[in-house]
Amino acid sequence: MTDLRTRFAPSPTGFLHLGSARTALYNWAHARRHGGCFVLRIEDTDLERSTRESEETVLDGLRWLGLDWDEGPHRQTERRERHGEAIDGLLGADRAYRCTCSREELEVRKEEDIAAGGAGIYDGRCRDLNLGPDCGAHTVRLRVPDEGLLGWDDAVFGPSGQDARQIGDAIIQRGDGTPLYNLAVVVDDIDMAISHVIRGADHHPNTPLQIAIYRALEAPLPTFAHLPLIVGESGKKLSKRRDNVSIQDFRADGHLPEALVNWLVRLGWSHGDDEIFSLTEIGELFSLENVGRSPARAEPPKLAWLGQHYIKALPGDELFARVRPYLESVKGAAVEDEESLRALLELLRERSRTLVEMAELAHWKLREDLEYDEKAVKKHLRPAALPILQALEEAMGGLDEWTLAGLEKAFDAVAAQLGDLKLGKLAQPVRVAITGGPNSPGIFETLEILGRERTLVRIGKAIEIVEARVESAD
Ligand code: GLU
Repeated sequence: MTDLRTRFAPSPTGFLHLGSARTALYNWAHARRHGGCFVLRIEDTDLERSTRESEETVLDGLRWLGLDWDEGPHRQTERRERHGEAIDGLLGADRAYRCTCSREELEVRKEEDIAAGGAGIYDGRCRDLNLGPDCGAHTVRLRVPDEGLLGWDDAVFGPSGQDARQIGDAIIQRGDGTPLYNLAVVVDDIDMAISHVIRGADHHPNTPLQIAIYRALEAPLPTFAHLPLIVGESGKKLSKRRDNVSIQDFRADGHLPEALVNWLVRLGWSHGDDEIFSLTEIGELFSLENVGRSPARAEPPKLAWLGQHYIKALPGDELFARVRPYLESVKGAAVEDEESLRALLELLRERSRTLVEMAELAHWKLREDLEYDEKAVKKHLRPAALPILQALEEAMGGLDEWTLAGLEKAFDAVAAQLGDLKLGKLAQPVRVAITGGPNSPGIFETLEILGRERTLVRIGKAIEIVEARVESAD
């Protein structure tokens, strides 16, 4: 392993968000590409919002996507002592100081400063008071330099930074003794020897202060790479209401992890005009140089297209194993007849973009009671379909063998008998009769898979439906 170390540092306060999953993927890929180490660190210091359940959800999502980590999960709360030590070290070296200004006082002074045209940053009142540990209630502030640039060469955004004067002496320890987020992140990244901090652009504004902390701790800076914002199809910021943003939801919707990973990697990264990348290829080809700065559009149609690609490519056994849970979740489903289900999946592959879609397309095979599509019934199970259905019922009922060839012959005979009808004229009412809707794989394959008995029952039922319509029209 090389010295290259990346980390994914989620805060376990909800589900695994699309943007976080992309961050995890890029960190994973960068480590794999360079033979480095991918560290997982759970940033659970927000005790009110962090839960073990959410942590499990995040880990579960990573596993499902295939993003294996080499180290961790470390938990930030378990490192409290180290954070305290680092703060004490900074106090000892006079790089930090105690501050007894109350929140109310700070608020008043801040407003006064802003009213006078200032930026409202801390005025440094306690900076040179040399307050000791017995000064009473206090916070600890970092002594941020009075001038100079807190800058870095971002691997994605290029030269970045902020004037130190605009930052002011930031609090690194609260009155209750707990460390501030930026302090904990930097101490952890230093202790874990993280060489590349790759994270969402929303963290770009935190970086100048973090650089001040690195300098105060006399630690070398890692390479920072901030990833472009992900926007929805409309170009607007992703919103939970409008867009699907939870990896768990994508999973429940039947997306393949291969498709999702491929979709995610293209949200910001490119490799020529290539569109299809397996996880292994991503680990071989990924490079930060080819991550763009402009917002990346998360387009669901592209995910659907990738889904179709990966579903088509899955080996039969694998496809069956993956779709099985979704088949079983269809109400009233019977999945015992494995052989013909497998044959059905082969037919459905071409037209399915997700496993859920596949299970839905298989409804007619899985359930005894059909769900009829009203529009299709209205259009295709009309009085004109009655002679067709009746003739086919008889012709198919008399078949010696229920095979593609036999079925084709029965249809040919009925077409001729009814005055040289086209196959489509016969197929559509039959399709609605046996699947409930207007879409299915080829009619002969569909009939073959459904089997003689169920076909004849359904044709009989369709005949009843048409007859009822004829009667009500009389
Ligand atoms: N815990 C932070 C988050 O979930 C990430 C911190 C970082 O990457 O530096 O947004």
